[in-house]
Amino acid sequence: MRVGIFGGTFDPVHLGHMIIAEQVVEEMRLDKVLFVPGGIPPHKAASSVRASAEDRCEMVHAAVEKNDRFEVDRIEIDAGRAMHTVETVPLLKEKHPENEWFFVTGADEVSNLLTWKEPDRLLEEVVMVAATRPGSDLSKLDHLEAGLRNFDRIFPVECSRVDISATGIRRRILQGKSVRYMVPEGVYEIIKEKKLYVGDLRRQRTEEGEPLKEGSA
Ligand code: ATP
Repeated sequence: MRVGIFGGTFDPVHLGHMIIAEQVVEEMRLDKVLFVPGGIPPHKAASSVRASAEDRCEMVHAAVEKNDRFEVDRIEIDAGRAMHTVETVPLLKEKHPENEWFFVTGADEVSNLLTWKEPDRLLEEVVMVAATRPGSDLSKLDHLEAGLRNFDRIFPVECSRVDISATGIRRRILQGKSVRYMVPEGVYEIIKEKKLYVGDLRRQRTEEGEPLKEGSA
C-alpha cells in the first residue's frame, strides 16, 4: 500500500486540509492517508493551541468518517508530549514496513524544512509531498536544494487553492462570525456544541503576535 501521513495541529481541521488530502491521494495514487493530530507541536507556542488534544482528535475523526481512504492515528496525542516528525514517522512505519510511505504537507511548510529536526533523515524515511496551490511559486523550494542531500525526495503536487487557515477560523469564531462550510459539517457541529474557540479576542491577538519557537516539525 501507498500510505500518506498527514500531520498537523488541526485546531480545527478544515476544508483546506481535506482538499489537499483528497487531491494528493489522487495525484500520488495513495491507498490511504493517516491524519495524525499532534500533541503540542514543537514549532508552536503551547498557549497558541486552543482546543484540547481530545477535541482536536474528535474533530478529525468527524472530518474523515465518510472517506474510506482517510484514517486517524492517535500516536502523537497518546504520547502526550511534543514529537518531531522524524520521531513519529518511523514509529508509524514499523507497524507496516511493507508499505510505501509519504508525508503530506503544505508547500509553505516545506519551504521551512531546513528548520525541522533532521530533515535529511526524514527524507530517507518518507517521500515528502508538498501540496502547492496554482500560481504559487515553486521556486520557493529552490533554496532547499543546496541544504539537503535528499532534495529529490520532495515531490510538489499542485492542489486547488483554498484560502482557509485554522487561525482564520478561530479568529472568525472569536468575532462571532460564521465558519459554516469552512469546516466539514460534523466538525462544525462539534465546534458549536462544545462552544470551541469562543473566548477573549485580545488574548488571541497577543498570542498570534508571539514569535514562533525555533526548531519546528
Ligand atoms: P494554523 O492557522 O493554526 O497555523 P493551519 O490551518 O496551517 O493552522 P495545520 O494543522 O497547522 O493548519 O496544518 C497542517 C498542514 O496542512 C500543514 O502542512 C499546512 O501547510 C497544511 N495546510 C493548512 N491549511 C492549508 C490550506 N488552506 N491549503 C494548503 N495546505 C494547508
